[in-house]
Amino acid sequence: MFENLSSKLNTAIRTLKGQGRITDVNVAATVKEIRKALMDADVNYKVAKEITDKIKEEALGQKILIAVEPGQMLVKIVHDELTGLMGGEKKDINLKGDPAVVLIAGLQGSGKTTFSGKLAQHIKKGGRNVLLVACDIYRPAAIDQLKVLGEQVGVEVYAEPENKNAVSIAQNGIEYARKMGKKVVIVDTAGRLAVDEAMMNEIAAVKEAIKPTEILFVVDSMTGQDAVNTAKTFNDRLNFDGVVLTKLDGDARGGAALSIRHVVEKPIKFISTGEKMEALDQFYPDRMASRILGMGDVLSLVEKAQQAFDEEEAERINKKIRQNQFSFDDFYSQLQQIKKMGNIKDLMGMIPGMGQAVKDVDISNDSFKPIEAIIQSMTPAERKKPDIIDPSRKKRIATGSGTSIQQVNNLMKQFEDMRKMMRMMNKVQDGKMKMPTLP
Ligand code: GDP
Repeated sequence: MFENLSSKLNTAIRTLKGQGRITDVNVAATVKEIRKALMDADVNYKVAKEITDKIKEEALGQKILIAVEPGQMLVKIVHDELTGLMGGEKKDINLKGDPAVVLIAGLQGSGKTTFSGKLAQHIKKGGRNVLLVACDIYRPAAIDQLKVLGEQVGVEVYAEPENKNAVSIAQNGIEYARKMGKKVVIVDTAGRLAVDEAMMNEIAAVKEAIKPTEILFVVDSMTGQDAVNTAKTFNDRLNFDGVVLTKLDGDARGGAALSIRHVVEKPIKFISTGEKMEALDQFYPDRMASRILGMGDVLSLVEKAQQAFDEEEAERINKKIRQNQFSFDDFYSQLQQIKKMGNIKDLMGMIPGMGQAVKDVDISNDSFKPIEAIIQSMTPAERKKPDIIDPSRKKRIATGSGTSIQQVNNLMKQFEDMRKMMRMMNKVQDGKMKMPTLP
């Protein structure tokens, strides 16, 4: 996400890094590059100009701070401006009310239904009882899609396939939620391929009838500048409360994220980075700015890990590590937990300095497949006691998993290194050994 913008901004800033001080001339050149990077990423021209003018003013105003390296200082200035541009503070979704009603609006294909499922899961994890309501009366497939997602995340879906009146379905759905004691209702509506009057009238009528606590506008970030225009049209009509940016996992240039907030003056509340139900993040402007500048986003990484890792499992593994019994079964189960965290490349991008380093590397969840296949081809005894894996067993495992002996060897070596490390950590914790220090 934002890889191009990120790399161009870094190049622009690097030109200042080698220079001892900030001058009118080098700032002008750098700022011009920053503006170009923003516009290449689809940031609206006016927005790009406004923000770079501010950056320039700030940078020149700080000429006297000679103790700080100009490049570093500029990173800070750009970071603060980007954060401000994206809204400053993180804004939460409003779930007051009994039940709270969240209306989901946006064009067809923007990712509304997928997001509705994700939001349902997110709210359910927060401990509230959720109901999904399917109000797309034009595409029968949309109802089925929502039902599949509802089942996946364990949330009930209210639908009336024969009813062709979106307003009455929404009202009935909320009535049903009240009766069943649901605390939050998410209403997924119909979209069209482009903005049209009938669609706007329908969603406005639904809004009028159900008086939602929160209206979220879902927009596909791959649509670039169009995303900004669509957001404006929907906002003029619905006065929505927040924006959901989807498909940020693709090669979206990301400029929409930077411009929408500025143009419609409504906060981005969520970003969606994949088709899996877990690929949803709350939007933190400052963390996003850090990511764009390659400063990493360790906080989001930690949060994701906390969500994906189940505490009991963590405790179980910890115990095994303490008893030097970590096995290939445990390794496999940890891999599954890591995979639940979502797109690996995006995760790596959250580690400071890694974003740029991995941008051209092909890392996907599929990279784990050979490892998984190798472990699956081992017998339970081998997984538990890898020491018994002799050359003939290795050959069998390689054949069974469709990999090479070399790959099996590599995995076994990595696993042994991991176990060695764990044994060492245990000794350090028990006070039998000092942490080795670097020479
Ligand atoms: P709707 O018509 O607005 O309800 O859109 P859908 O939820 O049906 O999404 C349209 C397509 O985009 C589907 O194929 C989804 O799987 C896909 N999609 C939705 N969100 C994301 C996302 O964040 N990343 C990616 N890569 N695909 C997404």
